[in-house]
Amino acid sequence: MAEIYVPRRTKIVATLGPASDSPEVLERLIDAGVDVFRLNFSHGTADDHRRRARLVREISESNRHYVGILADLQGPKIRIGRFKDGKVFLEEGARFALDADYPLDQGDETQVGLVYRDLPRDVRPGDVLLLDDGRVVLKVDKIVGNRVECIVVVGGALSDNKGINKQGGGLSAPALTEKDKEDIRTAVEIEADYLAVSFPRSAADIHLARRLLREAGGEAGIVAKIERAEAVQPGVMEEIIEASDVIMVARGDLGVEIGDARLPQVQKDLISKARDMDRVVITATQMMESMIESPLPTRAEVLDVANAVFDGTDAVMLSAETASGKYPVEAVKAMHRVCVEAEKSPRVRRSSHRMDRQFKRTDEAIAMASMYVANHFPVRAIAALTESGATPLWMSRIRSGIPIYALTRHLKTCRKVRLYRGVYPILFRCDTTEHAVQNKAALEELLYYRAVTEEDRVLITKGDLTGVSGGTNTLKIVKVRDALALTTAA
Ligand code: PGA
Ligand code: MN
Repeated sequence: MAEIYVPRRTKIVATLGPASDSPEVLERLIDAGVDVFRLNFSHGTADDHRRRARLVREISESNRHYVGILADLQGPKIRIGRFKDGKVFLEEGARFALDADYPLDQGDETQVGLVYRDLPRDVRPGDVLLLDDGRVVLKVDKIVGNRVECIVVVGGALSDNKGINKQGGGLSAPALTEKDKEDIRTAVEIEADYLAVSFPRSAADIHLARRLLREAGGEAGIVAKIERAEAVQPGVMEEIIEASDVIMVARGDLGVEIGDARLPQVQKDLISKARDMDRVVITATQMMESMIESPLPTRAEVLDVANAVFDGTDAVMLSAETASGKYPVEAVKAMHRVCVEAEKSPRVRRSSHRMDRQFKRTDEAIAMASMYVANHFPVRAIAALTESGATPLWMSRIRSGIPIYALTRHLKTCRKVRLYRGVYPILFRCDTTEHAVQNKAALEELLYYRAVTEEDRVLITKGDLTGVSGGTNTLKIVKVRDALALTTAA
């Protein structure tokens, strides 16, 4: 007998870049299991992205892989300017100024210009600024005009165009820049499947992106990158998830803003909220970071990917690992094998909501499926045609507000099921093998008891044969009126 193929459930997003530009590498990445490619609009030109998108489509469609494309907008450039010598070394305790009026390419040990010219308006004395993802930390001492004067709290090397974050959030830069608006048009042109918005502060940023995308004729799903402290505030988090199709746990920037120690809990909250709200979630950044230089992940990275799978993420993402690393294909393969193995864990194959167990029998499986339907679809009642009452018993173990009518020809069964929570016995004698006729008779009973109206839907369970205990193998949803009409016509 041929072995059954079980595909990986967790999806892999891989960022394209110089390390993955050749058709050969792309093909190997697809074969290794990439599901979606990310085009990072923070790097490269629109033409680079067009070329990459074309290649991805060509290769994936010729192989019938149909790989997705995610266009990731750069977002606001909250950055310093450049240094005369490319970089400087800042000593702890020294003074250093960020000056919006200072020339952009003349930085030195005492001051540097600002690409993000609004910074002086966004900060107050005492604020902590994190440069280069927190490698250099400055404390704001005073603001003089357009000049932010700081004390170096954590020193180190600082080079051209490094990013600025404010601890606790609060930088006013809008999420969509002029460049982003231009890039949205490119994303539409290349028919990106997803559009990622960087640094959204609120649902309004997501709505704006969606409007601009639609106006440009695009149909991509919107990905909200959760990477600002504001975006994980209670309430705001939910609004952003609600407004988007997908969220990304963008751990790089988010970790800088809220502190790395808070990331694990926030990741878990984001994943479970997204799933609860029927949204998709990508877990991103530094998942296989050491593979930029090494053909093997660290144990910590293996655990990180597996833990994201356990948390319930839809996808895990690779950034520099595939964009500029030395081992892009190996990184995808490593993710693949870690996900596949993690998915074998019972913890990701069970839902506590759907009861924490395997079903042993067909009728039990039908009963459980019925309750899932009953709790998620507008049926007025369940009609369980039963011999022993086993099916309604299983049904009644699941919490629900939907009444379970046990229709049985055995008086004994009627009495027995009377005790079951939510189960109402009806003595039902209908000797026919004709299912349509049987359904009609059952529904007439429910109508007689005023359990349903003709406009309602009813979920019926039954077996192929009457008189056989444990034979329930059918779940049917019928509209009462239609079921009655069907048999009358027949
Ligand atoms: P980026 O976003 O890779 O575009 O910076 C992801 C993150 O911040 O984690
Ligand atoms: Mn980011």
